[in-house]
Amino acid sequence: MNAPTFPSSPSFITTIIRHDWSRSEIQTLFDLPFSDLMFQAQTVHRAYFNPNEVQVSTLCSIKTGACPEDCAYCPQSARYDTGLEREKLMAVEKVIEEAKAAKASGATRFCMGAAWRSPKNRDMPYVTTMVQGVKALGLETCMTLGMLDEVQAQELADAGLDYYNHNLDTSPEYYGEIITTRTYQDRLTTLANVRKAGMKVCCGGIVGMGEEESDRAGLLQQLANMPEHPESVPINMLVKVEGTPLANEADLDPFDFIRTIAVARILMPQSHVRLSAGREQMNEQTQAMAFLAGANSIFYGEKLLTTPNPEANKDMQLFKRLGIKPESYEVHQNESEQEAAIFQQLQEQKNDSMFYNAAK
Ligand code: SF4
Repeated sequence: MNAPTFPSSPSFITTIIRHDWSRSEIQTLFDLPFSDLMFQAQTVHRAYFNPNEVQVSTLCSIKTGACPEDCAYCPQSARYDTGLEREKLMAVEKVIEEAKAAKASGATRFCMGAAWRSPKNRDMPYVTTMVQGVKALGLETCMTLGMLDEVQAQELADAGLDYYNHNLDTSPEYYGEIITTRTYQDRLTTLANVRKAGMKVCCGGIVGMGEEESDRAGLLQQLANMPEHPESVPINMLVKVEGTPLANEADLDPFDFIRTIAVARILMPQSHVRLSAGREQMNEQTQAMAFLAGANSIFYGEKLLTTPNPEANKDMQLFKRLGIKPESYEVHQNESEQEAAIFQQLQEQKNDSMFYNAAK
């Protein structure tokens, strides 16, 4: 007997890398029945990645607060009273210590973020020394320092920086509602400078900022139609921080968040799609669904710049329960060494918190 067929099966699944997605094609993906969208995203994901591996990065704020920009979601903007303590640029030695601890916890990439409009030339020797020091530990390096000119991008690349993070945040149409102190084109210019210098690009956005679904489609269209897809695409869920203009924004339906991840996966099949800020607010089931939709990178550690991140060992417990392994950084990182660090961590917390609130 033939197996029955169902009319709602996706009519096309493409795993081809494209850079010419139209807004209506992307909207069609968003409009698919949820199961069809998830199936399509999984199919694309499995064509390029081991579906049971997730890349793990640690984020370190090397300079917190007092940023002159006015990003409406950001507690680090000097324009909003969020109670955040402003800090000076962290000492190079301290950054290296943090990177060592991140490596011991199983991270393969160390991301360093500074709340700047753009780095000043006097800052460059410090940040390039940080890159060299972190790289020497055998970690991949990533930085987010604001806008870069061509010379700064080249200096970072020459120091060995692997990735530069600079997000587009949202669609070009909605952008003016969120930031007025730098333009969309400023961001695209920085991204072009990063590419020209030969670094990999980490670029994504934030959802749940009051935008329409068409804006989420617009953001993904910008990313997917770049001449090269960003190697890393963080999809953040807004973290509402008291004192920022978006503090009272309505919650986004978690299914809309998952849909955004799935469409990002389909449009950029070879990119790591990162489940980024906002994970603290998600229950484990939503996180698992995000992995199913094609998310394959997370930030791991106690803090995501200034907003809370689920505790590292809870992440590893969830990985174990889902049969997910941290992706190894092949060039420098030995998988068994990495696993040993994770298992040691699991062992250490075995006695104190084996029972936890699964709904949290
Ligand atoms: S997101 Fe970055 S640029 Fe915008 S206010 Fe925050 S630290 Fe400054």
